Amino acid sequence: MPYILIIEDDKITAEGISSILGNEGHEVDIAQNGKIAFDRLKNKSYNIIITDLMMPEMDGMQFINRLRMTDNETPVIVVTAYGNIENMLAAFELGAVEIMEKPFDIEELIHLVNELTK
Ligand SMILES: [Mg+2]
Repeated sequence: MPYILIIEDDKITAEGISSILGNEGHEVDIAQNGKIAFDRLKNKSYNIIITDLMMPEMDGMQFINRLRMTDNETPVIVVTAYGNIENMLAAFELGAVEIMEKPFDIEELIHLVNELTK
């Protein structure tokens, strides 16, 4: 079963994505920021990581930056309300596979996740 980690400080968004992907048969964990995400990663590895950008403690860019020091494999999808060109280029440079702007298309996210976990 594919394991997915959602890093998102907005509870409603996190739980929304979690229940949708859960219904698709994915096992989903939520972390409220990048720091908590690394705690989760100590105990478990994930097939896909979906991250917000703007979060307290450790934001999405800091998270991807640190992740890529040790892990070049795990696909990272960025979901953000701040999809400006700078953020997008920086995220792609760090190896994000896709950047989705909020409010994003649920069907598109499901499709992408299914493709990546095939
Ligand atoms: Mg946020």
